[in-house]
Amino acid sequence: MPQPAGSTSVEPAPFSGRVHVLGAGPVGLLLTALLQSTDGVSVRLYEKRREYSRTRMVQLASFLVADSIDAYCHDHIDDESVVAIFDPQELSELLAFRRSIPPDLMDLLRDWTLGFCPLKAIERSLSDLIDARATSVERTTAVVTAQDAMAMLEPGDALIDCTGSKSVLRDHLAPGAGGVDDGGNTLKIRLEYALVVTFLYGQRYDCNEYCKYLKNADNPHYKFIPMVNRTHYDGSVSHVTGIVNISAEDYEAMPSQFDGAWLRGNFPRVTESMDRFINKVKEETHGELLGDLEIVRIPLDLYRARHATSREWRTSGQSDHPFARSPVFLAGDSAIGSPYFQSISLGFECAMYLAGLLARRDVPMRDLLDRYELYMYKQWLRVYMRSKMIKHNKDLFESIDEPLALLEKLHIY
Ligand SMILES: Cc1cc2nc3c(=O)[nH]c(=O)nc-3n(C[C@H](O)[C@H](O)[C@H](O)COP(=O)(O)OP(=O)(O)OC[C@H]3O[C@@H](n4cnc5c(N)ncnc54)[C@H](O)[C@@H]3O)c2cc1C
Repeated sequence: MPQPAGSTSVEPAPFSGRVHVLGAGPVGLLLTALLQSTDGVSVRLYEKRREYSRTRMVQLASFLVADSIDAYCHDHIDDESVVAIFDPQELSELLAFRRSIPPDLMDLLRDWTLGFCPLKAIERSLSDLIDARATSVERTTAVVTAQDAMAMLEPGDALIDCTGSKSVLRDHLAPGAGGVDDGGNTLKIRLEYALVVTFLYGQRYDCNEYCKYLKNADNPHYKFIPMVNRTHYDGSVSHVTGIVNISAEDYEAMPSQFDGAWLRGNFPRVTESMDRFINKVKEETHGELLGDLEIVRIPLDLYRARHATSREWRTSGQSDHPFARSPVFLAGDSAIGSPYFQSISLGFECAMYLAGLLARRDVPMRDLLDRYELYMYKQWLRVYMRSKMIKHNKDLFESIDEPLALLEKLHIY
Protein backbone atom coordinates (compact mmCIF):
# COMPACT_ATOMS: atom_id res chain seq x y z
CA MET A 1 0.00 0.00 0.00
CA PRO A 2 1.40 3.48 -0.84
CA GLN A 3 2.67 5.38 2.17
CA PRO A 4 1.35 8.88 2.85
CA ALA A 5 3.49 11.61 1.33
CA GLY A 6 6.27 12.78 3.58
CA SER A 7 6.09 9.78 5.90
CA THR A 8 9.36 8.17 4.79
CA SER A 9 12.21 9.07 2.61
CA VAL A 10 13.68 6.63 0.09
CA GLU A 11 17.46 6.60 0.20
CA PRO A 12 18.81 6.51 -3.37
CA ALA A 13 21.40 3.81 -4.11
CA PRO A 14 24.95 5.17 -3.81
CA PHE A 15 25.98 6.93 -7.02
CA SER A 16 27.70 4.40 -9.29
CA GLY A 17 29.24 7.06 -11.53
CA ARG A 18 27.08 6.23 -14.53
CA VAL A 19 25.25 9.28 -15.88
CA HIS A 20 22.64 9.39 -18.64
CA VAL A 21 22.51 12.80 -20.32
CA LEU A 22 19.36 13.33 -22.40
CA GLY A 23 19.80 15.93 -25.13
CA ALA A 24 23.04 16.97 -26.79
CA GLY A 25 22.26 20.64 -27.30
CA PRO A 26 24.83 23.12 -25.96
CA VAL A 27 24.11 22.39 -22.28
CA GLY A 28 23.99 18.57 -22.59
CA LEU A 29 27.25 18.69 -24.55
CA LEU A 30 29.00 20.94 -22.03
CA LEU A 31 27.87 18.73 -19.15
CA THR A 32 29.08 15.65 -21.01
CA ALA A 33 32.46 17.25 -21.70
CA LEU A 34 32.79 18.23 -18.03
CA LEU A 35 31.74 14.82 -16.69
CA GLN A 36 33.86 13.00 -19.25
CA SER A 37 36.97 14.35 -17.59
CA THR A 38 35.73 13.55 -14.06
CA ASP A 39 37.32 10.55 -12.33
CA GLY A 40 34.97 7.62 -11.86
CA VAL A 41 32.19 9.01 -14.05
CA SER A 42 30.98 7.46 -17.33
CA VAL A 43 28.48 9.18 -19.60
CA ARG A 44 25.80 7.95 -21.97
CA LEU A 45 24.57 10.75 -24.21
CA TYR A 46 21.25 10.60 -26.10
CA GLU A 47 20.27 12.99 -28.90
CA LYS A 48 17.53 12.88 -31.49
CA ARG A 49 19.14 15.18 -34.09
CA ARG A 50 21.72 13.81 -36.53
CA GLU A 51 23.24 17.18 -37.43
CA TYR A 52 23.91 20.52 -35.84
CA SER A 53 22.37 23.13 -38.12
CA ARG A 54 21.06 26.00 -35.95
CA THR A 55 22.49 29.20 -37.39
CA ARG A 56 21.41 31.77 -34.78
CA MET A 57 24.28 33.86 -33.48
CA VAL A 58 24.89 33.68 -29.74
CA GLN A 59 27.44 35.00 -27.30
CA LEU A 60 28.38 33.69 -23.90
CA ALA A 61 28.55 35.89 -20.80
CA SER A 62 32.02 36.68 -19.48
CA PHE A 63 31.13 35.43 -15.96
CA LEU A 64 31.49 31.88 -17.33
CA VAL A 65 35.26 32.29 -17.55
CA ALA A 66 35.71 34.64 -14.60
CA ASP A 67 38.84 34.01 -12.53
CA SER A 68 37.95 36.21 -9.53
CA ILE A 69 34.82 37.07 -7.56
CA ASP A 70 35.03 40.67 -8.80
CA ALA A 71 35.14 39.53 -12.40
CA TYR A 72 32.30 37.08 -11.74
CA CYS A 73 30.04 39.82 -10.33
CA HIS A 74 30.93 42.40 -12.94
CA ASP A 75 27.73 43.01 -14.86
CA HIS A 76 26.01 46.30 -15.63
CA ILE A 77 22.55 44.92 -14.82
CA ASP A 78 22.84 42.58 -11.89
CA ASP A 79 26.20 42.79 -10.12
CA GLU A 80 24.53 43.68 -6.81
CA SER A 81 21.98 40.90 -7.21
CA VAL A 82 24.75 38.33 -7.49
CA VAL A 83 26.33 39.51 -4.25
CA ALA A 84 22.90 39.70 -2.58
CA ILE A 85 21.91 36.16 -3.56
CA PHE A 86 25.11 34.14 -3.36
CA ASP A 87 27.34 33.75 -0.32
CA PRO A 88 31.07 34.47 -0.70
CA GLN A 89 31.75 30.81 0.08
CA GLU A 90 29.47 29.70 -2.76
CA LEU A 91 31.14 32.08 -5.18
CA SER A 92 34.56 30.78 -4.15
CA GLU A 93 33.44 27.20 -4.81
CA LEU A 94 32.10 28.16 -8.23
CA LEU A 95 35.41 29.75 -9.14
CA ALA A 96 37.39 26.81 -7.79
CA PHE A 97 35.45 24.50 -10.11
CA ARG A 98 36.12 26.80 -13.09
CA ARG A 99 39.85 26.52 -12.39
CA SER A 100 39.60 22.73 -12.63
CA ILE A 101 38.04 22.77 -16.12
CA PRO A 102 40.45 21.11 -18.59
CA PRO A 103 42.26 23.59 -20.87
CA ASP A 104 40.82 22.14 -24.12
CA LEU A 105 37.33 23.05 -22.90
CA MET A 106 38.24 26.31 -21.18
CA ASP A 107 39.87 27.61 -24.39
CA LEU A 108 36.60 27.08 -26.25
CA LEU A 109 34.58 28.83 -23.53
CA ARG A 110 36.96 31.80 -23.57
CA ASP A 111 36.60 32.12 -27.35
CA TRP A 112 32.81 32.13 -27.13
CA THR A 113 32.76 34.97 -24.60
CA LEU A 114 34.73 37.22 -26.97
CA GLY A 115 32.18 37.59 -29.74
CA PHE A 116 29.20 36.09 -31.47
CA CYS A 117 29.25 32.71 -33.09
CA PRO A 118 26.58 30.48 -34.60
CA LEU A 119 24.92 28.09 -32.16
CA LYS A 120 25.83 25.17 -34.43
CA ALA A 121 29.53 26.09 -34.13
CA ILE A 122 29.33 25.79 -30.32
CA GLU A 123 27.50 22.47 -30.62
CA ARG A 124 29.89 21.05 -33.23
CA SER A 125 33.03 22.12 -31.34
CA LEU A 126 31.82 20.55 -28.10
CA SER A 127 30.68 17.43 -29.88
CA ASP A 128 34.05 17.08 -31.71
CA LEU A 129 35.95 17.66 -28.49
CA ILE A 130 33.99 14.88 -26.75
CA ASP A 131 34.65 12.47 -29.63
CA ALA A 132 38.35 13.33 -29.83
CA ARG A 133 39.15 12.66 -26.18
CA ALA A 134 40.65 9.41 -24.95
CA THR A 135 37.76 8.61 -22.55
CA SER A 136 34.85 7.59 -24.72
CA VAL A 137 31.24 8.61 -24.29
CA GLU A 138 28.55 6.18 -25.42
CA ARG A 139 26.33 8.13 -27.82
CA THR A 140 22.87 7.10 -28.98
CA THR A 141 20.84 8.80 -31.69
CA ALA A 142 17.18 8.39 -30.72
CA VAL A 143 14.11 10.20 -29.53
CA VAL A 144 13.95 9.39 -25.81
CA THR A 145 10.57 9.43 -24.07
CA ALA A 146 9.98 9.76 -20.34
CA GLN A 147 9.14 6.05 -20.22
CA ASP A 148 12.40 5.18 -22.03
CA ALA A 149 14.30 7.31 -19.54
CA MET A 150 12.69 5.55 -16.57
CA ALA A 151 13.39 2.14 -18.09
CA MET A 152 17.08 2.83 -18.68
CA LEU A 153 17.79 3.66 -15.03
CA GLU A 154 19.70 1.06 -13.04
CA PRO A 155 20.43 1.38 -9.31
CA GLY A 156 23.14 3.98 -8.77
CA ASP A 157 22.60 5.74 -12.12
CA ALA A 158 21.99 9.47 -12.38
CA LEU A 159 19.86 11.00 -15.11
CA ILE A 160 20.20 14.57 -16.38
CA ASP A 161 17.56 16.04 -18.63
CA CYS A 162 19.00 18.64 -21.04
CA THR A 163 16.23 18.38 -23.63
CA GLY A 164 15.51 22.09 -23.73
CA SER A 165 12.42 24.21 -23.23
CA LYS A 166 10.04 21.34 -24.12
CA SER A 167 11.78 19.16 -21.55
CA VAL A 168 10.97 15.47 -21.64
CA LEU A 169 11.05 15.05 -17.86
CA ARG A 170 10.29 18.43 -16.25
CA ASP A 171 6.65 17.75 -15.53
CA HIS A 172 7.38 14.20 -14.40
CA LEU A 173 9.39 15.46 -11.44
CA ALA A 174 6.40 16.59 -9.39
CA PRO A 175 4.56 13.51 -8.15
CA GLY A 176 0.83 14.14 -8.27
CA ALA A 177 1.09 17.93 -8.57
CA GLY A 178 -1.23 18.92 -11.38
CA GLY A 179 -0.15 16.07 -13.63
CA VAL A 180 2.24 15.91 -16.52
CA ASP A 181 -0.19 17.29 -19.11
CA ASP A 182 -0.98 20.36 -17.01
CA GLY A 183 2.65 21.39 -16.76
CA GLY A 184 2.39 20.67 -13.03
CA ASN A 185 6.05 21.37 -12.37
CA THR A 186 6.38 24.45 -14.59
CA LEU A 187 6.01 28.04 -13.42
CA LYS A 188 5.72 30.29 -16.46
CA ILE A 189 5.56 34.07 -16.71
CA ARG A 190 4.86 35.50 -20.15
CA LEU A 191 6.69 38.82 -20.42
CA GLU A 192 5.77 39.77 -23.97
CA TYR A 193 5.71 38.69 -27.61
CA ALA A 194 8.57 39.66 -29.84
CA LEU A 195 10.18 39.37 -33.22
CA VAL A 196 13.84 38.42 -33.09
CA VAL A 197 15.24 40.15 -36.19
CA THR A 198 18.71 39.34 -37.50
CA PHE A 199 20.50 40.96 -40.42
CA LEU A 200 23.93 41.18 -41.95
CA TYR A 201 25.42 44.56 -42.77
CA GLY A 202 28.44 45.12 -45.01
CA GLN A 203 30.28 47.59 -42.77
CA ARG A 204 31.35 47.85 -39.18
CA TYR A 205 28.37 48.96 -37.09
CA ASP A 206 28.68 49.21 -33.32
CA CYS A 207 25.54 50.00 -31.37
CA ASN A 208 25.34 51.73 -28.00
CA GLU A 209 22.49 53.03 -25.83
CA TYR A 210 22.42 56.42 -27.59
CA CYS A 211 22.26 55.06 -31.10
CA LYS A 212 19.52 52.69 -29.97
CA TYR A 213 17.50 55.80 -29.11
CA LEU A 214 18.50 58.06 -32.00
CA LYS A 215 17.92 55.44 -34.70
CA ASN A 216 14.41 54.86 -33.36
CA ALA A 217 13.58 58.56 -32.90
CA ASP A 218 11.05 58.53 -35.76
CA ASN A 219 9.56 55.18 -34.82
CA PRO A 220 6.57 55.76 -32.55
CA HIS A 221 5.83 52.00 -32.42
CA TYR A 222 7.59 48.77 -33.30
CA LYS A 223 10.95 50.11 -32.20
CA PHE A 224 13.83 47.80 -33.13
CA ILE A 225 15.96 47.30 -30.03
CA PRO A 226 19.32 45.87 -31.03
CA MET A 227 21.58 44.04 -28.62
CA VAL A 228 23.63 46.99 -27.48
CA ASN A 229 27.43 46.54 -27.54
CA ARG A 230 26.89 43.04 -28.83
CA THR A 231 26.74 43.52 -32.58
CA HIS A 232 29.50 41.36 -34.00
CA TYR A 233 31.88 42.52 -36.76
CA ASP A 234 33.84 39.62 -38.24
CA GLY A 235 36.23 41.75 -40.33
CA SER A 236 33.88 42.41 -43.23
CA VAL A 237 30.33 41.88 -42.01
CA SER A 238 28.40 43.06 -38.95
CA HIS A 239 25.93 40.58 -37.47
CA VAL A 240 23.06 42.51 -35.92
CA THR A 241 20.32 40.97 -33.78
CA GLY A 242 17.52 42.71 -31.92
CA ILE A 243 13.95 42.55 -30.78
CA VAL A 244 10.74 44.25 -31.89
CA ASN A 245 7.88 44.12 -29.42
CA ILE A 246 4.59 42.90 -31.00
CA SER A 247 1.06 42.37 -29.71
CA ALA A 248 -0.55 38.98 -29.05
CA GLU A 249 -2.74 39.58 -32.15
CA ASP A 250 0.32 40.27 -34.32
CA TYR A 251 1.92 37.11 -32.97
CA GLU A 252 -1.10 34.98 -33.88
CA ALA A 253 -1.15 36.40 -37.41
CA MET A 254 2.48 35.53 -38.19
CA PRO A 255 4.20 32.29 -39.17
CA SER A 256 6.93 31.13 -36.77
CA GLN A 257 9.77 32.13 -39.14
CA PHE A 258 9.84 34.45 -42.13
CA ASP A 259 11.91 37.02 -44.01
CA GLY A 260 11.81 40.75 -44.75
CA ALA A 261 9.80 40.22 -47.95
CA TRP A 262 7.01 38.51 -46.01
CA LEU A 263 7.09 41.27 -43.39
CA ARG A 264 6.86 43.97 -46.10
CA GLY A 265 3.77 42.34 -47.61
CA ASN A 266 1.99 41.67 -44.33
CA PHE A 267 3.17 44.08 -41.62
CA PRO A 268 4.16 47.30 -43.42
CA ARG A 269 4.35 49.32 -40.17
CA VAL A 270 6.98 47.00 -38.74
CA THR A 271 8.86 47.14 -42.06
CA GLU A 272 8.82 50.95 -42.05
CA SER A 273 10.25 50.94 -38.58
CA MET A 274 13.06 48.55 -39.56
CA ASP A 275 13.74 50.60 -42.73
CA ARG A 276 14.08 53.81 -40.72
CA PHE A 277 16.47 52.17 -38.31
CA ILE A 278 18.64 50.60 -41.03
CA ASN A 279 18.64 53.79 -43.15
CA LYS A 280 20.10 55.68 -40.20
CA VAL A 281 22.79 53.03 -39.82
CA LYS A 282 23.54 53.45 -43.55
CA GLU A 283 23.72 57.26 -43.30
CA GLU A 284 26.36 56.94 -40.59
CA THR A 285 28.43 54.07 -41.87
CA HIS A 286 27.84 54.03 -45.64
CA GLY A 287 27.29 50.31 -45.88
CA GLU A 288 24.58 48.08 -47.32
CA LEU A 289 22.26 45.44 -45.96
CA LEU A 290 23.51 42.03 -47.11
CA GLY A 291 20.64 39.75 -48.08
CA ASP A 292 17.27 39.89 -46.38
CA LEU A 293 16.17 40.08 -42.76
CA GLU A 294 15.74 36.79 -40.90
CA ILE A 295 12.84 36.92 -38.48
CA VAL A 296 11.55 34.56 -35.80
CA ARG A 297 8.42 35.32 -33.78
CA ILE A 298 8.59 34.11 -30.19
CA PRO A 299 6.75 34.50 -26.92
CA LEU A 300 9.26 35.81 -24.40
CA ASP A 301 8.69 33.55 -21.44
CA LEU A 302 10.43 33.36 -18.14
CA TYR A 303 9.91 29.95 -16.60
CA ARG A 304 11.32 27.52 -14.14
CA ALA A 305 10.85 23.98 -12.97
CA ARG A 306 9.50 24.26 -9.41
CA HIS A 307 11.49 21.10 -8.72
CA ALA A 308 14.78 20.88 -10.62
CA THR A 309 15.44 17.36 -9.30
CA SER A 310 13.54 14.18 -8.44
CA ARG A 311 13.87 14.99 -4.71
CA GLU A 312 10.07 15.09 -4.23
CA TRP A 313 9.71 11.48 -5.37
CA ARG A 314 11.81 10.27 -2.44
CA THR A 315 9.15 11.39 0.04
CA SER A 316 6.13 10.68 -2.16
CA GLY A 317 5.37 7.30 -0.65
CA GLN A 318 5.90 5.62 -4.04
CA SER A 319 9.22 3.99 -3.32
CA ASP A 320 9.03 1.70 -6.35
CA HIS A 321 8.99 4.61 -8.83
CA PRO A 322 12.31 4.87 -10.75
CA PHE A 323 12.62 8.55 -9.81
CA ALA A 324 12.28 7.72 -6.12
CA ARG A 325 15.30 5.41 -6.38
CA SER A 326 17.51 7.29 -8.85
CA PRO A 327 18.45 10.96 -8.88
CA VAL A 328 17.20 13.03 -11.79
CA PHE A 329 18.38 16.57 -12.50
CA LEU A 330 17.22 19.21 -14.98
CA ALA A 331 19.82 21.45 -16.61
CA GLY A 332 19.72 24.23 -19.20
CA ASP A 333 16.44 25.27 -20.78
CA SER A 334 14.72 22.22 -19.33
CA ALA A 335 15.18 23.73 -15.85
CA ILE A 336 15.02 27.50 -16.34
CA GLY A 337 14.25 29.55 -19.42
CA SER A 338 14.77 33.24 -19.83
CA PRO A 339 14.43 35.64 -22.73
CA TYR A 340 16.76 38.46 -23.82
CA PHE A 341 19.70 36.40 -25.05
CA GLN A 342 20.93 35.08 -21.72
CA SER A 343 19.79 31.44 -21.56
CA ILE A 344 22.84 29.61 -22.84
CA SER A 345 25.08 31.30 -20.30
CA LEU A 346 22.67 30.45 -17.51
CA GLY A 347 22.47 26.86 -18.72
CA PHE A 348 26.27 26.60 -18.88
CA GLU A 349 26.57 28.05 -15.40
CA CYS A 350 24.18 25.45 -13.99
CA ALA A 351 25.92 22.66 -15.93
CA MET A 352 29.23 23.63 -14.32
CA TYR A 353 27.69 23.58 -10.87
CA LEU A 354 26.05 20.20 -11.44
CA ALA A 355 29.25 18.67 -12.83
CA GLY A 356 31.09 19.97 -9.76
CA LEU A 357 28.48 18.37 -7.47
CA LEU A 358 28.62 14.99 -9.18
CA ALA A 359 32.39 14.99 -8.81
CA ARG A 360 31.90 15.15 -5.01
CA ARG A 361 31.64 11.44 -4.30
CA ASP A 362 31.99 12.13 -0.56
CA VAL A 363 28.63 13.92 -0.41
CA PRO A 364 25.48 11.73 0.01
CA MET A 365 23.08 11.89 -2.92
CA ARG A 366 20.27 13.41 -0.84
CA ASP A 367 22.57 16.34 -0.01
CA LEU A 368 23.51 16.73 -3.68
CA LEU A 369 19.82 16.93 -4.57
CA ASP A 370 19.22 19.54 -1.84
CA ARG A 371 22.22 21.61 -2.89
CA TYR A 372 21.24 21.58 -6.54
CA GLU A 373 17.66 22.61 -5.72
CA LEU A 374 18.91 25.53 -3.64
CA TYR A 375 21.41 26.60 -6.26
CA MET A 376 18.78 26.49 -9.02
CA TYR A 377 16.42 28.54 -6.90
CA LYS A 378 19.10 31.17 -6.47
CA GLN A 379 19.80 31.19 -10.20
CA TRP A 380 16.06 31.61 -10.77
CA LEU A 381 15.96 34.63 -8.43
CA ARG A 382 18.88 36.14 -10.25
CA VAL A 383 17.48 35.66 -13.76
CA TYR A 384 13.97 36.65 -12.67
CA MET A 385 15.19 39.99 -11.29
CA ARG A 386 17.45 40.53 -14.26
CA SER A 387 14.74 39.81 -16.82
CA LYS A 388 12.19 42.02 -15.06
CA MET A 389 14.74 44.83 -15.04
CA ILE A 390 15.41 44.44 -18.77
CA LYS A 391 11.68 44.29 -19.52
CA HIS A 392 10.99 47.37 -17.39
CA ASN A 393 13.73 49.33 -19.11
CA LYS A 394 12.37 48.20 -22.47
CA ASP A 395 8.88 49.36 -21.50
CA LEU A 396 10.24 52.78 -20.53
CA PHE A 397 12.13 52.97 -23.78
CA GLU A 398 8.97 52.24 -25.79
CA SER A 399 7.38 55.37 -24.24
CA ILE A 400 10.42 57.56 -24.11
CA ASP A 401 8.90 60.32 -26.29
CA GLU A 402 5.53 60.34 -24.54
CA PRO A 403 5.90 61.78 -21.03
CA LEU A 404 2.42 60.73 -19.87
CA ALA A 405 2.80 57.16 -21.06
CA LEU A 406 6.24 57.12 -19.49
CA LEU A 407 4.94 58.40 -16.14
CA GLU A 408 2.28 55.67 -16.11
CA LYS A 409 5.03 53.08 -16.19
CA LEU A 410 7.04 54.59 -13.34
CA HIS A 411 5.90 52.88 -10.16
CA ILE A 412 7.94 54.63 -7.51
CA TYR A 413 6.36 53.66 -4.16
C1 LIG B 1 15.57 32.84 -31.80
C2 LIG B 1 16.40 32.53 -30.59
C3 LIG B 1 17.55 33.25 -30.35
C4 LIG B 1 18.34 32.97 -29.22
N1 LIG B 1 19.47 33.71 -28.99
C5 LIG B 1 20.20 33.47 -27.88
C6 LIG B 1 21.37 34.24 -27.57
O1 LIG B 1 21.78 35.12 -28.32
N2 LIG B 1 22.04 33.96 -26.43
C7 LIG B 1 21.64 32.97 -25.58
O2 LIG B 1 22.27 32.76 -24.54
N3 LIG B 1 20.57 32.21 -25.84
C8 LIG B 1 19.84 32.44 -26.97
N4 LIG B 1 18.73 31.70 -27.21
C9 LIG B 1 18.40 30.60 -26.29
C10 LIG B 1 19.33 29.41 -26.52
O3 LIG B 1 19.29 28.99 -27.85
C11 LIG B 1 18.93 28.29 -25.57
O4 LIG B 1 18.98 28.80 -24.26
C12 LIG B 1 19.88 27.10 -25.65
O5 LIG B 1 19.86 26.53 -26.93
C13 LIG B 1 19.45 26.06 -24.61
O6 LIG B 1 20.33 25.00 -24.62
P1 LIG B 1 19.88 23.58 -24.09
O7 LIG B 1 21.01 22.67 -24.40
O8 LIG B 1 19.40 23.70 -22.70
O9 LIG B 1 18.60 23.20 -24.94
P2 LIG B 1 18.44 23.03 -26.52
O10 LIG B 1 19.37 23.90 -27.26
O11 LIG B 1 16.99 23.16 -26.80
O12 LIG B 1 18.91 21.53 -26.76
C14 LIG B 1 18.11 20.44 -26.40
C15 LIG B 1 18.61 19.22 -27.14
O13 LIG B 1 17.86 18.09 -26.75
C16 LIG B 1 17.47 17.36 -27.89
N5 LIG B 1 16.22 16.68 -27.56
C17 LIG B 1 15.03 17.24 -27.24
N6 LIG B 1 14.11 16.31 -26.97
C18 LIG B 1 14.72 15.12 -27.12
C19 LIG B 1 14.28 13.77 -26.99
N7 LIG B 1 13.02 13.47 -26.65
N8 LIG B 1 15.17 12.78 -27.21
C20 LIG B 1 16.46 13.07 -27.57
N9 LIG B 1 16.92 14.32 -27.72
C21 LIG B 1 16.07 15.33 -27.50
C22 LIG B 1 17.30 18.42 -28.97
O14 LIG B 1 17.38 17.86 -30.26
C23 LIG B 1 18.45 19.36 -28.65
O15 LIG B 1 19.65 18.99 -29.27
C24 LIG B 1 17.95 31.95 -28.33
C25 LIG B 1 16.78 31.21 -28.58
C26 LIG B 1 16.01 31.51 -29.69
C27 LIG B 1 14.76 30.69 -29.94
